[in-house]
Parts: sequence; C-alpha cells; structure tokens
Amino acid sequence: MPQVQRMSAMLLKTLRDDPADAETASHRLLVRAGYVRRSSAGVWTWLPLGKRVLENVACVVREEMDAIGGQEVLLPALLPKEPYQRSGRWEEYGDLLFRLKDRKGAEYLLGPTHEEIFTLTVKDQCTSYKDLPVIVYQIQTKYRDEARPRSGVLRGREFQMKDSYSFDTTDEGLAESYRLHRAAYRRIFERIGLDYRIVSAVSGAMGGSASEEFLAPAAAGEDTFVECPACDYAANTEAVTTVVEPPAPAAHGPVEELDTPDTPTIETLARHLAVPASATLKNLLVKVDGKITAVGVPGDREVDLGKLAEHLAPAVVELVTAEDFAGHPELVRGYVGPQGLGLPYLADPRVAPGTAWITGANKPGTHARNVVCGRDFTVDRYLDVVVVEPGDPCPRCGAGLRIGRAIEIGHIFQLGRKYADVFGFDVLGSQGKPVRVTMGSYGIGVSRAVAALAEQTHDEAGLCWPREVAPADVHVVAAGKTQQTELALRVAGDLARAGARVLVDDRAGVSPGVKFTDAELIGVPTVLVVGRRAGEGVVELKDRRTGEREELTIQAAVAAVA
Ligand code: ATP
Ligand code: MG
Ligand code: MG
Ligand code: MG
Repeated sequence: MPQVQRMSAMLLKTLRDDPADAETASHRLLVRAGYVRRSSAGVWTWLPLGKRVLENVACVVREEMDAIGGQEVLLPALLPKEPYQRSGRWEEYGDLLFRLKDRKGAEYLLGPTHEEIFTLTVKDQCTSYKDLPVIVYQIQTKYRDEARPRSGVLRGREFQMKDSYSFDTTDEGLAESYRLHRAAYRRIFERIGLDYRIVSAVSGAMGGSASEEFLAPAAAGEDTFVECPACDYAANTEAVTTVVEPPAPAAHGPVEELDTPDTPTIETLARHLAVPASATLKNLLVKVDGKITAVGVPGDREVDLGKLAEHLAPAVVELVTAEDFAGHPELVRGYVGPQGLGLPYLADPRVAPGTAWITGANKPGTHARNVVCGRDFTVDRYLDVVVVEPGDPCPRCGAGLRIGRAIEIGHIFQLGRKYADVFGFDVLGSQGKPVRVTMGSYGIGVSRAVAALAEQTHDEAGLCWPREVAPADVHVVAAGKTQQTELALRVAGDLARAGARVLVDDRAGVSPGVKFTDAELIGVPTVLVVGRRAGEGVVELKDRRTGEREELTIQAAVAAVA
C-alpha cells in the first residue's frame, strides 16, 4: 500500500521568494517548492519531494532499459587515471574533469561518463562471440566541472545520468542495439510526459560516427536546433559546426603597423563583426571553451560575436588576450592587449587580407598588415560554423526551417571500435579467430529530465507534474479546523488503501489560503480539498492543470482519484 506523506512531518519548507540567482523557471520553482536545495555551485541536495520525482523518472528509465535486455550494474564514480590516460580523455577533457589524489599520491578522477571502465568490465566477463551482444547500464552520479553550472539541476557539476553501453561483434549488431535504445528512449520520454525531438548530432569528444540527441524544446535550453515543418528533418545546430583542417600558411612580408582612428573594444569588435552580407568571415580568432580557435563562417552570413556565442553555446566564447599568447611574446607584441583582440583580418571588407586590429596597450587603435597565422600567432583548432537562420531551406525538402531552443535530455552514439581498439577488446569469433568488438554508448540526464519537465509543464502558479513522475497522485488539503484535518487524514488513508500515492497537508496553524498556494506551487496533478462541506461528507476535487473543480462525496472522490 502506498504511504501517506504528511506535510506536518515532512522535511519541506516552501519559499515565497525566488532565489536571487535563479534564471530559469525550473530552478526557481524546484527551490521554492522545496524539491531541491543548493549545496555549492552546481551541486544539489534532493529533498523528499524532489527525490520522489527523481526516483519516478529513474524507475521509468529502469523499466524500459530492462525491457530491451539491459542489465543494471553499478560502477564506481571514483576512477583510476590510467584507463582515461590510455583513451586520451584524461587530457582531452581538460578542466571538465574533477581530478584528485589519494594519500599515496595515486591519481584519480570522478567519472564524467564511463566508456573506458565499462569496456574493461565487459572485456573481463566476455571472451567469446557467444557472450555477446550485451547491454549494460547504470543510473549513477556523474561529475563534470562545468564552466558555467547554471539553471539549477539543468546543468549540475554533480548530476544523475543513466548511461548504457552495448557490445556487439558486427556492425549490424551495433545498429540493432542502437535501434533498441532509440525505441526505448522514445518510450521513456513519452511515458514521463516530455515533449521531445530526435535530432542528428555531432559526436564531439566521444569520437565515433552516428549519433542522435533527444532534445526537449524549452526557452531555457542551451541547445539550438532546426526542424523542418514539412518533412522530418531536424538537427542540432552544433551538428553543422565542424572541425576543419587549418589553411596552408600563405607567404607574407613582415608585419607592418598602420595608424587608424579606431580603438576596438569588445563592443566595437562585436559591432564590427556584423559584416555586410557580401563579406565572408574567416579566421575570426576567439577562445571557445578556453581553446584559441579560428572560426570560419562560410557563406554570406552576417554574424556578430553575440550571435556566434549563442550559436556555440554551451561552449564559452571569449576574446583572446595577450596572456593567451604568453609563450610567444615576440610574435604577438602589439597584436593583443588587455581588452582582447579578435582577428577578423580576412573578413573586414574595408581592409586588405592579412590585416589585423591592434588593441595593445603600446599602440591602441592601429591596424597591422601581413599578420600570418602560424608565424604571428597560433591556434588550437579551426571550426567551420554554419549559421542557420529561420526560413533557410531544409536540406532535405527545401521548405523553410524553424529554429528553436531546447534542453539535451538524451544522447545516443554508435561509437564503433574506438574503445575496443584502445583496450584490445577482442572475443573469439565463430571461425575461431579473434573479432574486435564494436560499441555504442547511450546517456539520459535523469536529474536534468526532472528540470526539463518542470520547464515544459509549469505555469504561473507553480509546478505542474505529469502523473507518471509526480511526487504524489493526489494532494489532500485540510482547509479548516481539527474536524477537517481529521477527515483529511481519513480520506488520505482511504486513498492510499485504494492504491493512490497521497500527500496530505495536515499542518496546524497554516491558513487554507497558504495551503492552496503551496498546493499549486508543489504541482501534484489532483488536489482534494476537505473544507466547508466536510461535515456533510462532501469534498472538492481540483485538476491542477486545468483548474477545473467539482464537488463530490468522499466515496466518489476516492473512486475518481484511485
Ligand atoms: P551538454 O551538451 O548539455 O553539455 P553533453 O552533450 O555534454 O551535454 P553527454 O556527454 O551527451 O552530455 O551526456 C549524456 C546526457 O547527460 C546528456 O544528454 C544530458 O542529458 C546529461 N548531462 C550532461 N551534462 C549534464 C550536466 N552538467 N548536468 C545535468 N545533466 C547533464
Ligand atoms: Mg557537456
Ligand atoms: Mg551536448
Ligand atoms: Mg551530448
């Protein structure tokens, strides 16, 4: 029998005011309604109501993963450095990794995702093609030292992820494991009541080939996606950002400084970058997630720094500064300064190719001619960015594309043999020869899904959960004196016996008005009010979403809810 949760005894304090730093509705409401509390930047405590919702989402995930033959395991979050060093991700992940040392000086990390450790675990257990395919998963705490932990649990530095991994001997097998996951994800998001899109995506630091993301449309999202209203084309705009080969260094004369009246600050630079449509913006130099990056925007787009930053979000785009070139003072003296410098030197229609802005303290407000990449400055990588605008033609059918913001709630990858190659994971094939294993990896942000649901379903009065994930089926409000409270507890008991999960507001000394406001804020789908007509055995049922109410006998109300 489901338990009755009595608010008089619960660890629950609702707040009248929004937390000062809250930018998004989910952050505001989950804190105010007493679901979560901030522990430190990007690290959250889940209070009883929040834990229930988190657990409800996890249960749906678990059921659907089990249904495709997934085997649940639990790997450590505290991981040794060595496997991540072998895969290259110890370096690749950079500042994103939480690294630590034990008392003997051995190095560890807190797992951001577990491809390496799962490969080793399954390699240890599976030696023959007969042992495969295998799907293993866990629902576990992940750690990423995000550059901008924001929006409450939407982007945590500690968060809950369901990660699963498939191991197959053939490409067809991998395609089938991927298809199973894709179908399971659709069922999961449908069941928990999330509106979502499936879009093609880049593989990023994961490596590998095919990959799709599940995006929950929401203004608070950090991803931008395009979708076609006429066909089923949809893509994350990240997917059209590709890392390209650097251009061959051109022959140039010595750097020559030119006096100009301009003093480019960050503002004037941003303004300057809104180049006319005829100009092609190439080799703009900025830092993307701390890496000095040359960004090319092919085509005839107008783009400014703000737009670029938005486009590349959640990557952090910053201007380069003198410190970034600290290793090459002789090369960059005069080219970069404390205000930072972008190098739209091939883009500026007013100046010749090879011309750079100077914002240096020595000679601010000058251009320099003949600036050469590789000689006068170096970059970490080159990105080609395709900026898509609303109404651009769909690459599949030509109809005008729509653009929206969304939250990435899931991500599925066909990794291929990348990790099997790193760790030499072969099984004995049917012909008696070793066969290299091929792998998929599949994530769902379980804690993020809670926030995404809050984003999509809340209204002005508060949270508004779909029943499948709600912390209770019904919120019984005792609106009155002792008589109402006693009756409310009795009704709560009846409801629980009938199979409903019940939250009952039996707090003494709290006015009915405050209780109603709290019920709206907490967002349980049905509110049952034991009020004025309690003595006659009549209560009121209210639908949290529509606001529709009706008066019923207690018996009818219990039957309607359970
Ligand atoms: P994002 O682009 O938002 O940074 P990601 O692409 O880095 O996410 P993946 O490595 O694909 O994330 O991880 C799988 C899933 O884990 C994501 O689809 C997302 O739902 C969730 N997730 C990733 N980072 C976070 C985070 N910092 N807080 C909460 N959930 C996260
Ligand atoms: Mg990320
Ligand atoms: Mg992503
Ligand atoms: Mg991802």
